[in-house]
Amino acid sequence: MLRQLLASGKVSVNHAVEIDGQIPVTPFDLIQCESNILQNKHAYYIMLNKPIGVVSATTDEQHKTVIDCINEPFADQLHIAGRLDLNTSGLVILTNDGQFSRKITQPEEKIGKKYEVGTENTITDEYIKYFAKGMFFDYEQVQIQPAILKIRNNHNAQLTIFEGRYHQVKRMFARFQNKVISLHRTSMGAIELDKNLRAGEYRFLSETEVNSI
Ligand code: URA
Repeated sequence: MLRQLLASGKVSVNHAVEIDGQIPVTPFDLIQCESNILQNKHAYYIMLNKPIGVVSATTDEQHKTVIDCINEPFADQLHIAGRLDLNTSGLVILTNDGQFSRKITQPEEKIGKKYEVGTENTITDEYIKYFAKGMFFDYEQVQIQPAILKIRNNHNAQLTIFEGRYHQVKRMFARFQNKVISLHRTSMGAIELDKNLRAGEYRFLSETEVNSI
């Protein structure tokens, strides 16, 4: 039945007639059968400069959520591609595209996430080697991938990690009994937090940014 329908030339994907059903389609392709729309869903990709005190959740009884920051009619369709702690600020990507968010968050994809870290105690050169070896997180029984640390000064560094375990950056510095006192995410892969966005502001990702993932 489906084969016959396709063969009749009545079905189109993104306005191109599809006769054998061989091309892969995503949930965001426009599928039509003559003038009837069978699927027409828009994909949204947003970068938010998350302020401290806003929770990375879709609903919360106590705090404002990242979704509450998005003043768009489709905001409730969005989910978070990589959460940040309540007291962490910076780049959060919100989307309704599950494949995109999986790519960003899955450790196997090795997408680097960059953080500016401020600490209570001095950061020493010893950290660089230790983080570069990767480490084992007992609680999850998981090996953390090698991470790249660039020391900016005694109490500040840039850290690039390739997964997003619970409190990962704080737990990495805790290995040296060094408490993280400020944490700000500046990029995820090639997507950099737009410097024009003040805390709480957002913008749509460009096509180049979306395609970079
Ligand atoms: N690592 C943390 O410890 N917290 C964050 O919010 C993100 C990474």
